[in-house]
Amino acid sequence: MTTTAFIGLGAMGDPMAAHLARQARHDGAKALVWNRTTTKAEAHAAKHGSVSVTLPEVAQADILFTCLPTSAEVDGIIGQLAPHLKRGLTWVDCTSGHPDAAKRQRRQLAELGVNFLDAPVSGGTGGAEAGTLTVMLGGPAAEVEAVRPHLAFAGKAVHVGETGAGFAVKSINNMLLAVNLWAAGEGLVALANSGVNVSAALDVINASSGRSNATENLVPQRVVTREFPCTFALGLLAKDTGIAVDVVNSVKGSAPVIAQTAALFRAAARTVGAEQDHTAALKLIETMNQKEIK
Ligand code: NDP
Repeated sequence: MTTTAFIGLGAMGDPMAAHLARQARHDGAKALVWNRTTTKAEAHAAKHGSVSVTLPEVAQADILFTCLPTSAEVDGIIGQLAPHLKRGLTWVDCTSGHPDAAKRQRRQLAELGVNFLDAPVSGGTGGAEAGTLTVMLGGPAAEVEAVRPHLAFAGKAVHVGETGAGFAVKSINNMLLAVNLWAAGEGLVALANSGVNVSAALDVINASSGRSNATENLVPQRVVTREFPCTFALGLLAKDTGIAVDVVNSVKGSAPVIAQTAALFRAAARTVGAEQDHTAALKLIETMNQKEIK
């Protein structure tokens, strides 16, 4: 019987851990949870049948999932858990982390007899709730295959390469999200300023070759409505674009659009607010053009 544990019951972690609890109920196993703000873990246990435990108790699981803001917070938890970790445990980090951190963390945990896989996810809070997330795994194939049956929150799980490859792919995926979102904002604000109805323009674009996830699922629902509901913080997307730049630089790549987009999202997070929804980055474009996208 495999005991799982989940650390980080945030916007993504809370619904992801709910799927682990559901699978544990089905298997007659245990799904442990720990969160910095303890009340969230207690609420999770009451709602989903997970078991709220202390941090050292989490270290006795067979598979430990983390979903924290950045690799720095994962480092902090590794430091706190190091004296308690059970040998043979596999640590599956679903944070959108840094490839260099993954390599270092794998080495550090290997000294304690613990495996480490980078396993960031995509699909947003909707995908986490539906259990249809895409997981991109980095690490040795045998370790990836051993955890695959336990990814209860996944709709698709792909082994993309060695340690760090999962985080690298995730950063480039999110860079594509950022590029598309920013470009849609620049284009739509120009159309708005030339008197075109933005909703009509989106209707056309979404039936044409310029469509993207940003124009189909983000701008109409979040920007045009002026709601900007925060499910994925702008500061986190800015962090991901910075990781993408590091991925490019690690191979001495030439990628001016990536560099530019990372700088724009850093500026947007600073001026609009890192805690705002990622689509609020377009408010910076609106300020630059003195026009709202609506
Ligand atoms: P949230 O801010 O909603 O949740 C962050 C979680 O980390 C909370 O449980 C928080 O605890 C915990 N935490 C923060 N700092 C620490 C710390 N120092 N020590 C221990 N726990 C800490 O983030 P998300 O769930 O949105 O994002 C998590 C990761 O998933 C990020 O890497 C993000 O980039 C990625 N991601 C997010 C998506 C989204 O749509 N939101 C989609 C795909 C990936 P507490 O409750 O106490 O604050």
